[in-house]
Amino acid sequence: MKQTVLITGASRGIGRAIAECFAQNGFRVGINYCASRQEALYLKKDLCDKFGTGIAEVFQADVSKEEDVKRMGEEVGASLGEVDVLINNAGVAQQKLFTQTTGEDWDFLFGVNVKGTFLCTRAFLPQMIRRQKGKIINISSMWGITGGSCEVAYSASKAAVIGLTKALAKEVGPSHINVNCIAPGVIQTQMNASLGEETLNALREETPLETLGTGMDVAHLALFLASEQADFITGQVISVDGGMVI
Ligand code: NAP
Repeated sequence: MKQTVLITGASRGIGRAIAECFAQNGFRVGINYCASRQEALYLKKDLCDKFGTGIAEVFQADVSKEEDVKRMGEEVGASLGEVDVLINNAGVAQQKLFTQTTGEDWDFLFGVNVKGTFLCTRAFLPQMIRRQKGKIINISSMWGITGGSCEVAYSASKAAVIGLTKALAKEVGPSHINVNCIAPGVIQTQMNASLGEETLNALREETPLETLGTGMDVAHLALFLASEQADFITGQVISVDGGMVI
């Protein structure tokens, strides 16, 4: 029987690549989006055309909102059944001087990046505990490890995701649930589009492997962490960053 994965923020970028990679590898895929309905529906159609009707379904929810996540949990249950793998990927970033960061900026970043991870995990964890199996993969960032200048709020939110991962891994280990974290480096997605060619070239030069990453680079690690080959790995933060953080 096919396993089921739910990926938050899968309408584009890294989440979309993860959805494609998991569908290619025999998973049924739940595609969460917040605003990008057309992109999510297009991805569903693409995956169903390639891998069979019913292989993918879309679920709208703003992961920072408790009532949205509760509704999504019910819709996923009714449509795909129980979730074997949850990938908390939905995220927002912002470049600003610390002194210009407002309380609203802070709440927005922590709302999506941290509370979203908390709410989605809380929605799907009980069924994993009941079944005594499951994999949770949280997408943090290299800035959550090292801290990024002009990205203090983002870095702090991604460090919180690392803390959540480690603590939860200890708490649910006895239920045979693995909780791990991926820390991507610079990945070519819309999130980085505003940085401009010059900055992206500088970041490429700073990267030991002298290239920027792709969504598929992240997806391949997520697929491994979701597999039984990774059954003895939990509470870890694994970088996919071309050697940027060593
Ligand atoms: P992206 O291209 O901007 O895509 C972000 C995704 O998150 C979109 O699908 C978006 O969907 C969704 N999203 C945003 N707010 C949401 C909300 N409130 N509820 C549900 N979905 C929401 O970004 P990306 O580069 O693929 O980033 C994916 C993850 O990787 C993020 O957690 C990011 O922090 C992390 N990351 C990225 C990089 C990088 O270099 N790109 C590096 C390190 C870590 P809608 O359009 O429908 O809102």
